[in-house]
Amino acid sequence: MTRIEIPFHRPSIGPEEIDEVVRTLKSGWLTTGPRTSEFEQALGSYVGAPYAQAVNSCTAGLHLSLAAMEIGPGMEVITTPLTFCATVNVILHVGATPVLADVGPDGNIDPESLLSRLTPRTRAIIPVHLAGLPCDMRTIWRVARDRRLFVIEDAAHAIGAHYRGSPVGAGDPSAGTYSDSAVFSFYATKNLTTGEGGMIVAHNEAFAEKARILCLHGLSKTAWNRYAGRGRWYYEVLVPGFKCNLTDVQSSLGLHQLRKLESFIEIRTRYARLYHDLLADAEEFELPPDRADCRHAWHLYMLRLNLEKIAIGRDEFIEALQDRGIGASVHFIPIPLHPFFARYARLAENQCPRALALYPRLVSLPLYPAMSEGEVEYVARTAKDIARGARRKHPIAVAASTP
Ligand SMILES: *Cc1c(COP(=O)(O)O)cnc(C)c1O
Repeated sequence: MTRIEIPFHRPSIGPEEIDEVVRTLKSGWLTTGPRTSEFEQALGSYVGAPYAQAVNSCTAGLHLSLAAMEIGPGMEVITTPLTFCATVNVILHVGATPVLADVGPDGNIDPESLLSRLTPRTRAIIPVHLAGLPCDMRTIWRVARDRRLFVIEDAAHAIGAHYRGSPVGAGDPSAGTYSDSAVFSFYATKNLTTGEGGMIVAHNEAFAEKARILCLHGLSKTAWNRYAGRGRWYYEVLVPGFKCNLTDVQSSLGLHQLRKLESFIEIRTRYARLYHDLLADAEEFELPPDRADCRHAWHLYMLRLNLEKIAIGRDEFIEALQDRGIGASVHFIPIPLHPFFARYARLAENQCPRALALYPRLVSLPLYPAMSEGEVEYVARTAKDIARGARRKHPIAVAASTP
């Protein structure tokens, strides 16, 4: 019998993407040019945002957003501890101070905790839509309006998610409320991929213009603008910018990934429901949270272990999955646990006991369109087998978190 291998992720790249990349390679224009413009327009209209700036990563997009808002030393930016390190690194890159608010039961930033972190130095909030489940944006927008704060959505997981009827990135059009920017990731494992890449979407023209200039050295014109302007060589440096542009080779992938995104989300949603159905009767598990007023993008299926019911820990659980050919992961190691961030985490205003208590329970199961339904069933069956085999005869009380 062949050994079953279900890696944590397999990309879905079809012949359309491959042909488009080849056409681009033959076109003579490899860097930022017509395909990137086309990708920006298509993605902006998909999410319902008038401005879209392609960047070479979500990290770069978050950094450019902070830079374009002129956030820097002496200012505080509030974010969540349950995120990838990039969200916090970029705050430090502009010289500002990261402040961590704790998470709520859904794993997203908790508005109550966010309120408790506000100081006169607070300048911006970076909510992260964990796993593709939108944050409580209405409350965040209200706080931001009252306190005149910027909101930058880390939407790395959330392309295709909807918040109260509108795509993440569209804001709340009926109320005329928007974030200052939302940034998507097109990293290899994300819902839509260009290998590496990202997109900033925005509703304010002045911000979008600043981000565009900062994205490419601070130049007044891109090489493509100059080429399209019949070979004019002249440009001016308006500000010392960065080098964060997305190439046409990458955008060639993105254009076709975007066309398939709705079908990707449909499959992810179907598989998430299949996991729910198959795992619901296992008392060793708590199923990932959802919200009735949102469309979850199901970037990740973050299962929670009920540690008082099983005799093994999360790490052993993941090893047992691995032994049966299943790749699993953890999202995320909370920011306070990384050595570099410990200095911030020690401060009283950064205590996040709920995030730290959630961490040892988290296991992300494989979830992607290139899986078959049979593979989803195998993963669910195996996870249950492992949990049953490790079931505690006498459930213990797990001590409350020790921050
Ligand atoms: C992947 C990810 C990022 C970074 O995205 P890149 O495109 O790799 O820079 C940022 N935040 C979160 C929550 C992520 O998962």
